[in-house]
Amino acid sequence: MSKHLQPSAEAITEDDAFIAEALKDVNTAALIMSMVHMTGDTSILKGAIRPKSSDVVSAGSKDQARYGEGGFTLEEMEAVRAQALEVIQGYRERGCTLPPFDSGAVPEMFSYMSGRDFDEEYLAFIKEEIALDGVDHRGLVLDDPELQARAANFPVVIIGAGMGGILAGIRLDEAGIPYTVIEKNTGVGGTWFENKYPGCRVDVPGHSYSFSFEPNHDWRNHFPLSDEIREYYERCARDYDVERKIRFETEVVSAAFDDRSQTWKVEVRNRDGNCEVLEARAVISAVGQLNRPKMPDIPGLERFEGQLVHSGAWPDSCRHEGKRVAVIGSGASAFQIIPEVAKTAGALKVFQRSPAWMFPNPGYHSAVGEGQKWALKKLPFYSKWYRFWLFYATVEGVYDKTLVDESWDSELSVSAANDEMRLGLTAWIESQVDDPELIDKVLPKYPPFGKRILQDNGSYLKALQQDNVALITTGIREIVPEGIVTEDGELHEVDIIACATGFNADRFLFPMKVVGRNGIELAEQWQGDNGRAYLGITVPNFPNLFCIYGPNTNLVVAGSIAHNAESQMNYILRCLRILLESDNRTLDCRQAVHDAYNARVDDINAGTAWGSPRVNNWYKNASGRVTANLPFRILDYWKMTKQPKTDDYIIE
Ligand code: NAP
Repeated sequence: MSKHLQPSAEAITEDDAFIAEALKDVNTAALIMSMVHMTGDTSILKGAIRPKSSDVVSAGSKDQARYGEGGFTLEEMEAVRAQALEVIQGYRERGCTLPPFDSGAVPEMFSYMSGRDFDEEYLAFIKEEIALDGVDHRGLVLDDPELQARAANFPVVIIGAGMGGILAGIRLDEAGIPYTVIEKNTGVGGTWFENKYPGCRVDVPGHSYSFSFEPNHDWRNHFPLSDEIREYYERCARDYDVERKIRFETEVVSAAFDDRSQTWKVEVRNRDGNCEVLEARAVISAVGQLNRPKMPDIPGLERFEGQLVHSGAWPDSCRHEGKRVAVIGSGASAFQIIPEVAKTAGALKVFQRSPAWMFPNPGYHSAVGEGQKWALKKLPFYSKWYRFWLFYATVEGVYDKTLVDESWDSELSVSAANDEMRLGLTAWIESQVDDPELIDKVLPKYPPFGKRILQDNGSYLKALQQDNVALITTGIREIVPEGIVTEDGELHEVDIIACATGFNADRFLFPMKVVGRNGIELAEQWQGDNGRAYLGITVPNFPNLFCIYGPNTNLVVAGSIAHNAESQMNYILRCLRILLESDNRTLDCRQAVHDAYNARVDDINAGTAWGSPRVNNWYKNASGRVTANLPFRILDYWKMTKQPKTDDYIIE
C-alpha cells in the first residue's frame, strides 16, 4: 500500500446551465458509471441504452454522424445527459456526498461497459484500477522501524529519468529507500525529451498514458503532443521531489556486480567528462526500448551535403519550411512527421519500404473539451472508469484479433477475426484515395498487427496526395552529396534527409557495459540482440538488477506502457521488501524459472501476427525472435507482477 490516497473528486459548485453544457463533452459509458456511484442505483445498467462496441476499429468506422464514442447513438447520449443532469443536481444538493457503494455492483458495471460477460478474474484488477477504497495499492510503505532502518541503508541507482525512472523514484521515496537517478539528458521525460520532430505526439490516449496515482485531468489533447507529455513528467518529478535526486547530463558507462561486497558499482561519466563510481545495493534500469536512434544502413549516407537528421534526435536547427525534404521510413514517427512537414515544405519525398496499417480515429488530433476536463475533476469515479474504458476498448477488445489461427491460410491475415479487421482497415484506406496506383502502394500486404498499427484521422493519406508530396516506393540504392539515388538510377535532390528509421530496439541497456556475478557480461549472456528477462524485469546472474520496460514488455495492442511500468515497479518494490524483511543481500532469478517463462513468451509470440515469420518489424531481433513484445494480456501481466514468488529466486 502506498502512503498516497487516490485523488477523489472535487466538489461541484457550478450551476445547471454550466453542467448541462459540460456534459456534451463527456464519455457516455464513464458518465453512466459515475451516475451509479452518485445514486447507488444500478437500474440504468439494465435499460436499453448500452455501448455498442468496445472495438476501436468498428467504433471508428461507424457513421460518425449517427454515433458517438462507445457506439451510443446521438439520441441515446442526449437521453443519458438529461438523466445525468438530474443525478448531478441531487449529488450537488447533498453536498457531494456519495451513498455507500456496494462492490457487488462491479460485475454488472464491467459487463455493461465492456459488453462481455463478467469474468471473475477481472474483479481484483478493476477494484485496484478504479481504487474503490480510495487507496493506491501499488506503492509500498514500511511501518516497522527495523525495516525502515534497513531501507534507509539500501541505496539504489536508477538509470534514466523518463517515465519509468520517475516512477521508480516516486515509489522508492514512499518506501523510504534512498536513490540517485542518472540521466544523460539535461531534462526529464526520456523519449518525450528527445523526440521533438514536427507533429510528435503519443498515439495512445493521454488519460491512460499517465500514472494511476497522478492523473492529469488537464491534457490539452486526447493524444497529447510531445511537449505536453514532457511537461507532465517534469511536474511529476518536481511535485514528488524526484528532481533533486537526478544527476543530469550524466551517463552510466558501466555497472558491475561486486561478488565480494554484494553491491553494484555503477560507473558514471559526469557532465565535465570525469568518471565516478557510485555504490548501490540495487540498480533499476529505466532506459526504455526506443532511445538509441538507428540510422539506415544505406551506402553513401555520410556523403550527403545537406542536413541529415533522425526523428529521434531532431535538432531545433532543422527548418524544413520551403525546403526539399526526404523522409525515409513510414513507421510511427514518419507517419506523424509527414503531414506536418508537408504543410510547409517546398517539396517532400517520402521513401517508403513497407506501408503501415492505420486505425480510423477521427479524434486523433482533437483537443480535450472543457466539459471533459470538468467531468474528470468533478464527477465521482468518472476519471477512473474513463481510464478503464480506454484500456478495455483499446486492449482487450482487440487482443484476440492478434492471435494466429493455425488453420487460417492467407498471406494477408492470421485468422478470421484478423481478416475482418483487415477488411475494415482496407476500407478505411480506400475511402481516402481514388488513385488505384496509390492505393496499391499504401495498402499493406501483410496482416494487421504485423507491424504497429497507427492512429489515423486521415491527415497522412491527405498529405501524400498534396501537390508538393511524392511517395516513392522504388528502393534506395545510395545516398550522394545532392540527395538520394533510387534503384532505377533516379537522383532525388533534397536539402534535408530525415531518417524516421527507428531505434536500436533489440539492444537492451545498450551501450552500457553491465557485468553480473563471476564477471558475466549481460551483452554476452544476451548474445547482443537476444534480450531475455523473467517477467521482463529480472535476469539470472544479475542479482538486484531490475528492468522497467525491459525485454518482452512492449505493448502492441495499444494499452499503456505507464500501466505496465506500474506493474513492474510494484513487483520490484515487493522484491526489495523480501530482501529487507529477510535481511538478505541479494535476490537472483533462478535460471530454470527464467527459461520456462521465456519459452512461454516465445511460444505465444510465435502465434501472433507480429511473430509470424512472414513479417519483419522492430519487435524482432536479427534471428527473428520477438524480443520486444509482451505477448500476454495486460490483466495477465498485472497478475504475474502482483507479488514475487520467493521460490523463483536464489535469495542470499
Ligand atoms: P519503425 O516503426 O521501426 O519504422 C522505421 C521505418 O523506417 C520503417 O518504415 C522501415 O521500413 C523504414 N526503414 C528502416 N530502415 C530503412 C532503410 N534502410 N531504407 C528504407 N526504409 C527503412 O520506427 P519509428 O517510426 O521510429 O517507430 C518505432 C516505435 O516507436 C513505434 O512502433 C512506436 O512504438 C514508437 N513510436 C511511438 C510514437 C507515438 O506514440 N506516436 C511515435 C513514434 C514512435 P520497414 O517497415 O520496411 O522495415
